Amino acid sequence: MSWQGVLADSITSAAGVEERFPGTAAAIDETARRYPMRINSYYWGLIRKVGGPLWRQAVPSQLELDDKIGVVDPLAEESLSPVANLVHKYPDRVLFLVNNQCAMYCRFCTRKRKVGTRRMPISDAGIEAGLDYIRRTPAVREVLMSGGDPFLMSDERLDWILGELRAIPGVEIIRIGTRTPCVLPMRITVRLTKILRRYHPLYINTHFNHPAEITPQAAQACTRLADAGIPLGCQTVLLRGVNDDPQIIRDLLCGLLKIRVKPYYLFQGDLTRGANHFRTPVAVGLAIMKSLIGHVSGMAIPVFAVDAPGGGGKIPLLPDYKISYGRELIFENYCGRVCSYPDVTGR
Ligand SMILES: *Cc1c(COP(=O)(O)O)cnc(C)c1O
Ligand code: SF4
Repeated sequence: MSWQGVLADSITSAAGVEERFPGTAAAIDETARRYPMRINSYYWGLIRKVGGPLWRQAVPSQLELDDKIGVVDPLAEESLSPVANLVHKYPDRVLFLVNNQCAMYCRFCTRKRKVGTRRMPISDAGIEAGLDYIRRTPAVREVLMSGGDPFLMSDERLDWILGELRAIPGVEIIRIGTRTPCVLPMRITVRLTKILRRYHPLYINTHFNHPAEITPQAAQACTRLADAGIPLGCQTVLLRGVNDDPQIIRDLLCGLLKIRVKPYYLFQGDLTRGANHFRTPVAVGLAIMKSLIGHVSGMAIPVFAVDAPGGGGKIPLLPDYKISYGRELIFENYCGRVCSYPDVTGR
């Protein structure tokens, strides 16, 4: 089936869920009226059980409506947008939200305030305004296309935006954030990769959260992108009841390397309204990092980071290996053995 067909075959209400999992309809429709729901037939086919790791990512829950702690726009994106849907937070790169649709509406989404709703209008004029801002802001060396999901646009529209960006002399790097290799892998067609490969240097960061998402179809999608010369990264979010476990994260990260995806970030959950029930203690993330570093290939190790509320940006966190730091650095290695390194004084 074409990717458009898989998408058209989505479950968008309690009735569709109830049909396969009787007795689970409560609160789904009410929640979906506030935060959109879409579970396409591919991802639906991966869901094995009620309350499982893929279920929790996809099926609306009453907990979203009950959230009194989360913040509507935790990263202050709206106030950091010089034009609508373009976030300029860091000096040399911008986040350009080019689409409001996704192949699945993740329940934990940081932008659930607007993604998939009328609160995120995207128009040709809006895209032009973003392009104009990039043209007149030469400090921007990198453009990160995100959304929504840029790959939910047609090939032609993507080609148009990529062509416009590539024609801007100051834009050195184009990066695309897309969850389609994970949630709609049939979107990665040969035709799409032929378009993408004309715009190098192009990087793609995708988003897998659980080893069960690494299917033969996902592997094929990533192979196609990698064979088009596109380096692939992954931005995973730590999610309670989904992947907040050292063994699950290890299987995920090592599995990603096997499909040629380099883990890039492991994010602490954002303080998003409607997603607070997914947050895990920071200590859990640090313990997971400690269980990985040194024990598995360094290639599999992402940076564990918190995106600071209020637009502070991504701040990395590492387990503490330092015991004391004077003339000698006294620290412990990954097995807990104490080591020392005589520092150099002066410059
Ligand atoms: C995450 C993000 C970036 C990219 O940050 P990197 O550390 O380069 O991946 C850029 N702009 C905004 C607004 C972001 O949220
Ligand atoms: S694919 Fe990304 S933008 Fe879309 S709902 Fe999921 S997390 Fe949000």
